[in-house]
Amino acid sequence: MRKTIAIAALITSVYALSAQQEITDPLATEKWSPVPVVVTPGEGTEPPSDAIILLGKDSDLSMWESTKGGKVKWDFDNGTLTVKRNTGGIRTRNYFGDCQLHVEWRTPQMVSGEGQGRGNSGVFLMERYEVQVLDSYNNRTYSNGQAASIYKQHIPLVNACRPPGAWQTYDIIWKAPSFNEDGTVKTPATITVLHNGVLVQNNVEIKGTTSYIGKQTYKSHPGRLPVMLQDHGNPVSYRNIWIREL
Ligand code: MG
Repeated sequence: MRKTIAIAALITSVYALSAQQEITDPLATEKWSPVPVVVTPGEGTEPPSDAIILLGKDSDLSMWESTKGGKVKWDFDNGTLTVKRNTGGIRTRNYFGDCQLHVEWRTPQMVSGEGQGRGNSGVFLMERYEVQVLDSYNNRTYSNGQAASIYKQHIPLVNACRPPGAWQTYDIIWKAPSFNEDGTVKTPATITVLHNGVLVQNNVEIKGTTSYIGKQTYKSHPGRLPVMLQDHGNPVSYRNIWIREL
């Protein structure tokens, strides 16, 4: 009897010891797989090695088309693409879903107009959901329509706008929406935006297709669609646009 108790006590203490080892052993919480793919980050303003270049220093406009169909009619000079009034927006020929998108933009140095009429353009994810581009440097407009707003949905956390004529960056992390078979939204899209390296939209939920008037609601669409840049009549410029599919 006494022998049995002694053995039981020994087993208990061995178990206790091994349980304790599991808790204290740092190796137990190490994960060695999967191994993240090696990506070489860009030097300075260069894109990372796995990015798809949509508009680069040496690129032509082959990645883009007019939203009116056919070739892009915007002005293009030495890697800088500038909106040409009334020629329509432009969109990528390739379609994208979840992504990381880098865009550099510049509003005209020569200030003209005010409010929504000063340096207005826009980056549209999936041709529908607008991150506003606007000269919001000393230019008051409605807060959910200023630069880095999700147009008429989300006010940016701060105003990180540079002066007119200066190049600015958006770094966008996009999670596309998904839809049920009946067309209702299953999971809404979410977006994170850094404006000139400053967090301005922190994983906010998209309420629906961007619209100028009225409530914004979702309409079912494919999982991959083009990125679009808006012609709002102002000569806003773009350069260094790249995307990483997630
Ligand atoms: Mg706009």
